Amino acid sequence: MTTNFETDVVIIGAGPSGLFSIFECGMLGLKCHVVDSLDHIGGQCIALYPEKPIYDIPALPEIMASDLIANLEKQAAPFDPVYHLSQQVTGIAGQVNDFTITTSKSVKIKAKAVIIAGGTGSFGPQKPPLANLELYEGKSVFYAVRSREKFRDMNVVIAGGGDSAIDWAISLSEVAKSVSVVHRRDKFRGAQASVDKLHALAEQGKIDLVVPYQLQALEGEGDTLKTVIVSDLDHNQKEIPADILLPFFGLSTSLGPLSDWGLGLNKNHIEIDQATAKTNLDGIYAVGDMATYPHKVKLILTGFAEAAQAAHSIRSQIFPDEELHFE
Ligand code: FAD
Repeated sequence: MTTNFETDVVIIGAGPSGLFSIFECGMLGLKCHVVDSLDHIGGQCIALYPEKPIYDIPALPEIMASDLIANLEKQAAPFDPVYHLSQQVTGIAGQVNDFTITTSKSVKIKAKAVIIAGGTGSFGPQKPPLANLELYEGKSVFYAVRSREKFRDMNVVIAGGGDSAIDWAISLSEVAKSVSVVHRRDKFRGAQASVDKLHALAEQGKIDLVVPYQLQALEGEGDTLKTVIVSDLDHNQKEIPADILLPFFGLSTSLGPLSDWGLGLNKNHIEIDQATAKTNLDGIYAVGDMATYPHKVKLILTGFAEAAQAAHSIRSQIFPDEELHFE
């Protein structure tokens, strides 16, 4: 089913640059829709370092990345942005003042201008190369845990050896029927206290450490997972009863369809005119980490400034004869 919308500006990417673009556009009377491939706003700040303090935002001597994003969302809220999350922008058709943006969920948005705030590209989970994985995704296979209650009394298999795998194994061992952690090494990479706790729970029989093993195959009935098959380097196989598989292999980024739109690219970045944030395509602007020009500094505050440049350029594009009066 296709859903159609119409707005002034479509912003691709809900990282800090995309979120501040909503505010800058809003101040100039421009309405925005924002698309992100992640299921949450915040870009790298939330996906990679939500609890890291940031020290180089003007007038904020120290702010946690997740708080910065919460503030940006609040600052943008009065302008009623519409967020389309968990979907990638797959196409841009049309021309200046009459674009149609299509997403991977068949959403179509008509807009007069486009701001690409795509950072290093679409973020998505690093998926294990397993046959029929898509069949179980969203039903038995999840790449993030929103609420651990969803997994109460279930057989949960976690794959991975980093912080997410360790922390969720510990947490889910309190509610799940069983928790197995599949990791290709016998050493885990995480905070030492958490690794110690993981081993202690394994000794108490509350977590089964399946090491050194790798995911091999999934078996189920229809789209309901029943068994995760793992194998070691000598191809010895084990079958683990499973209702849920949680692969925690980190995030991958890809420029994806952006690279096919005829934009002037320079090493996976979009070249812009620094003064206007314009790309080589009329009506399409780029800001933040994805935008480049000589001596570009990749910082959040640079993206903020570029968002302002882009918003002012778009206002002149849409209302060429109207003078700007700030009130
Ligand atoms: P991003 O934050 O990368 O967001 C881009 C978003 O666009 C992503 O969510 C992505 O999924 C989405 N996207 C891309 N393509 C598509 C598509 N086709 N369809 C849909 N969605 C798409 N900077 C600082 O200023 N100070 C710091 O202290 C600091 N610390 C950092 C620490 C770490 C560990 C890292 C990794 C970076 C740090 N940075 C810091 C850099 C800062 O995070 C980036 O400069 C900033 O996130 C760039 O913001 P952005 O909005 O341009 O892109």
